[in-house]
Amino acid sequence: MAKSDLASLTVHQARKLLDSRQASSAELTGALLDRIAAIEPKVDAYLTVTREVALKQADAADMRIAAGEAAPLTGIPLQLKDNLCTRGIPTTCSSRMLEKFVPPYDATVWQKLSSQNAVLLGKGNLDEFAMGSSTENSAFKPTRNPWDTSRVPGGSSGGPAAAAAADECLFALGSDTGGSIRQPAALCGIVGLKPTYGLVSRYGLVAFASSLDQIGPMTKDVTDSALVLNAIAGHDPCDSTSLNVPISDYTKALKPDLKGMRLGVPKEYFVQGMEPGVEKAVREAIKVLEGLGATVAETSLPHSRYALAVYYILAPSEASANLARYDGVKYGFSTSDGQTMWEAMEKTKQQGFGPEVKRRIMLGTYALSAGYYDAYYLRAQKVRTLIRQEFAKAFQEFDALVAPTSPSVAFALGAKTADPIQMYLNDVFTIPVNIAGIPAISVPAGFVDGLPVGLQFMAKHLGEETLLRAAYAYEQATEWHKHKPKL
Ligand code: GLN
Repeated sequence: MAKSDLASLTVHQARKLLDSRQASSAELTGALLDRIAAIEPKVDAYLTVTREVALKQADAADMRIAAGEAAPLTGIPLQLKDNLCTRGIPTTCSSRMLEKFVPPYDATVWQKLSSQNAVLLGKGNLDEFAMGSSTENSAFKPTRNPWDTSRVPGGSSGGPAAAAAADECLFALGSDTGGSIRQPAALCGIVGLKPTYGLVSRYGLVAFASSLDQIGPMTKDVTDSALVLNAIAGHDPCDSTSLNVPISDYTKALKPDLKGMRLGVPKEYFVQGMEPGVEKAVREAIKVLEGLGATVAETSLPHSRYALAVYYILAPSEASANLARYDGVKYGFSTSDGQTMWEAMEKTKQQGFGPEVKRRIMLGTYALSAGYYDAYYLRAQKVRTLIRQEFAKAFQEFDALVAPTSPSVAFALGAKTADPIQMYLNDVFTIPVNIAGIPAISVPAGFVDGLPVGLQFMAKHLGEETLLRAAYAYEQATEWHKHKPKL
């Protein structure tokens, strides 16, 4: 196999080459580093490329493979979103506030991957503190969509999505608070899985909204999604919200048909204003699912329409509390102008945070303040319960729900930056899942004018196997995941 082709492999394809000694991890990693050097000027998916670390880890992986002790991800090169802590390697959250922050510890997910001798290529760009849907809120640079570099990759995990789509890594890890794995996966034509809240440890993920945040795989196909989930799921005493449940081998769920599966199509996910091409692609995908043996029926989730409003109370409220730690005293950016401690703290926040982060802190502080708490925060929590109950009821009737991931395909850079509400509306189909804490996956489901469309499956709490099965059967029946952007 030509060296330049190694970068385009999936994880499971690379595993075969590594195990049969047709390629070494050093060769694979070298091919990826070459690809990064060639493509980054066009895509800007990385904030840091950890070349030396990667080459060293690849050698260690090759020794382990030679010893016959390879784990499923040994020697596999990956990218981590830059809000996942990596010991000794900058973790910026795309914020001036953490521009010089070098964590003294590893996130649990990275600990798990590195214990398998997976290879870190570098850290991926994101919207500052994962707040955004286009990666344009990065304090350092926007990432561009590999399918059309005048367009956004989605966000906030735009770096990971673009890197996987452009073959600048074999897979990436992102985080999803309100759609940040699934929406960029959809817009870049890859697979993005948001696991059940608590299935993957959040230890070492820089907190945005702690009751919603969840880490998950961003991969080139569904098999890889299952493989990576196998590696990162599981109980962690360092995360008090981590679930203590048995973890199965998710690859066992991958079956080529959907016989006996009951799928619901919630009518609220086909809203006015969504792109007709997206609706058409999703309707066609639903026919494919029926052809695979699933029974499909329309259903209704009337409370979904409040999910976006609930999210924009709860997520900023939690963010305002989480981001209070950036005071210029403990760590991160600190300004030297300011006569008093309070003035220095104020100026640190003024200079360290970008406009979207400030907007969220102000929204959240307002929603939590005395006199408004009952009207906003408490009410939002009550509606959250209704949304959760509504999903639970739907899953008595259906094994999974099917919907578009995003109402539109990738939009032009700058198209929505002036209007936060337009930007927020991008998340209408992804946010209800986070509110309910359930898992969901986005898989490639066609193109509109050469731009990828994402199909979303949602399942009940800990229903990852159902999700992966549905997504895999659909993927195997279609060719969408095989298309590559021409860069
Ligand atoms: N786009 C949403 C927001 O701006 C979701 C972000 C995320 O999932 N991290 O908050």
